[in-house]
Amino acid sequence: MNLQIKNKFTTELPADPILENTRRQVYNSCYSYVKPKSTSNPELLHVSPEMLENLGMKEEDSKSKLFLKFVTGNHVVKGTKPYAMNYAGHQFGNWAGQLGDGRAINLGEVEHNSMQWTLQLKGAGETPYSRTADGLAVLRSSIREYLCSEAMHHLGVPTTRALALALTGDQVIRDVMYNGNSAYEKGAIVTRVSPSFLRFGNYELFAARQDINTLKTLVDFTLKHHFSHLGKPSKDTYIQFFAEVSQRTLDMIIHWQRVGFVHGVMNTDNMSILGLTIDYGPYGWLEGFDFGWTPNTTDSQYKRYRFANQPNIGLWNLYQLANALYPLIEEAEPIETILNQYKTDFDAKSLQMMRTKLGLQTVNESDKSLIQDLEDYLQLTETDMTIFFRNLANFHKTEPSKGLKIINEAFYNSVEVSDSISEKWDYWFNQYAKRLQDESVTDEQRKTSMNKVNPKYVLRNYMAQLAIDAANIGDYNVIDELFQLLKQPYEEQPEFEKWYAKRPEWARHKVGCSM
Ligand code: AMP
Ligand code: MG
Ligand code: MG
Repeated sequence: MNLQIKNKFTTELPADPILENTRRQVYNSCYSYVKPKSTSNPELLHVSPEMLENLGMKEEDSKSKLFLKFVTGNHVVKGTKPYAMNYAGHQFGNWAGQLGDGRAINLGEVEHNSMQWTLQLKGAGETPYSRTADGLAVLRSSIREYLCSEAMHHLGVPTTRALALALTGDQVIRDVMYNGNSAYEKGAIVTRVSPSFLRFGNYELFAARQDINTLKTLVDFTLKHHFSHLGKPSKDTYIQFFAEVSQRTLDMIIHWQRVGFVHGVMNTDNMSILGLTIDYGPYGWLEGFDFGWTPNTTDSQYKRYRFANQPNIGLWNLYQLANALYPLIEEAEPIETILNQYKTDFDAKSLQMMRTKLGLQTVNESDKSLIQDLEDYLQLTETDMTIFFRNLANFHKTEPSKGLKIINEAFYNSVEVSDSISEKWDYWFNQYAKRLQDESVTDEQRKTSMNKVNPKYVLRNYMAQLAIDAANIGDYNVIDELFQLLKQPYEEQPEFEKWYAKRPEWARHKVGCSM
C-alpha cells in the first residue's frame, strides 16, 4: 500500500493529553488521541477507484492485506496518531453540550495533486466522545453512507466522500426500530474522506465553554488551512469567513432541494464548516414531491428537518455559528447583514435553481407564479419528483396538450388524477408553453440543459434497501451495480433502465435508519 499519510493538521491544535478511549468531558482540546478497535475478521466489500486515485493510490494498493487492515483500524501507519475530534452541537433545536466523534476516528491527512484529504473511519470503536453508545456501525447504515456520499458527489452536490466499505467480522447489537427488539447485525466500517470534518459544533463547543483561546486557535487554524484566500486572521477576516460559510451552506442546501435530498438530521454537529453534506444517517430521497416529508422517523411530530424547511434550518444553524464566532468579531451588525443576505439569496437562488429545472434561460416576472403553481400541483397527488422533471424535458412548446401524457408516468396512482387535477395540469402546461415562447432555445437544446440538472438516477430509498438485503445474505453485487449506476446520474444508461422507476409499493414506508 502506497499512502503518504501524516498528522500535519492536528499538531497545530491543542490535544487532550490522555491517550485512552475512556468516555469523558474533554476540556481545552480540539481532539483526543484514540486507538481504533481491532476487528476479528475484516473483509473489504467495495472501494471507490476515484478516491483511490485522489489519494495517490493505485487499484493494486487496495488489493493488499495492509489496505484492508488500514481501512478497518487494524493497522495504524507508522508515525501517525489516530484521533477523535471534540465538538458540541444543537440537536433538534436544543443545546446538547459535548458530543464529539463518538464513532469516527481520523487516521491522518494525505496531500495529493494539491488537495488535502483527511481520512476517517466510521464505526472503528469507542472514543472519549462515545457517551452511552458503542462506537460501532452496522452494515446497513454503512452501505447507505458509502453509496450516497459518492452518489451525491457525482450529482454535483458538495459532500464528504467515501474510500472504502468493509465488514469488521464482528457482530453489533442494535435495537431495531421497527419491531423494538434487539438483534445482532454485521459490523462495518466506512472510510470517509474530506478536506475537513470540522463542523459548526466544533466552534460552538469552545464558545459555550468561554474557552476563547481554543476557539481562536481553531478558527485561525481553519482559516490557514481551508480559507487561506481570505488572508491573515483579523476581525475583518473572521467576518468574511462567516460570510463564506453562510454562502456555501446555502449553496449546498439549494443543491439538496434541486435533487430532492432530505438530510434528516440537520443538527449543528452535522453542519460542515466547508459547506459539504456530512453525516449520512436517516437521510432520504423524495419520491413523491412533498414539502412536508422527512425520512427521520424520530422527527415525525414536528418535522423540523422536513424537505421545505432545510433552507430555514440552514439559517438557524448559521445563527448558532454566528453566536459561536461572536467573541472573535464583537460586532453584531456585520453578522446580521450576512444572515439577512442569506434570506435574500435564498429566494433568488432557489428561484434560479427552479428555472434551470424547467429549462428557462431567461428571467421573466411571471416565473415565480409559474413555479409556485407547479409546486402546488406536484403535491395534489403523489407525483415522483425525479421522473416528473426528467420526463418534462421531453415537452414540446408547440404541444401543451401532450404535457400531461409526457409526465403521466410520474403519478403514483393515476386514478387519483381527477378531472379537476387534470384541468389544473393542462392549465399549467399551457402557461409553461407560453413561457417557453420567450426563450430562444429549441426544444432539443432545452432538453439537453434540463437533463444536466434533473438527474435520471438517484439513490432511492428502496434501492439502498435492496443493496442492504442482498449484502445481508452475502451478495455484494447490488452495491457495485448501484455504485456504477450512480456515477453517471444525468446520463441515459439503457443497461440500467430498470432503476428509472418509481418506488415499488412494498417500499412505501421503508426509510433509512442511521444507528
Ligand atoms: P448523529 O445523530 O449521527 O449526528 O450523532 C450524534 C452524536 O452521537 C455524535 O457525537 C456521534 O458521534 C454520536 N454517535 C452516534 N452513533 C454512535 C455510536 N454508535 N457510538 C458512539 N457514538 C455515536
Ligand atoms: Mg453526526
Ligand atoms: Mg450519524
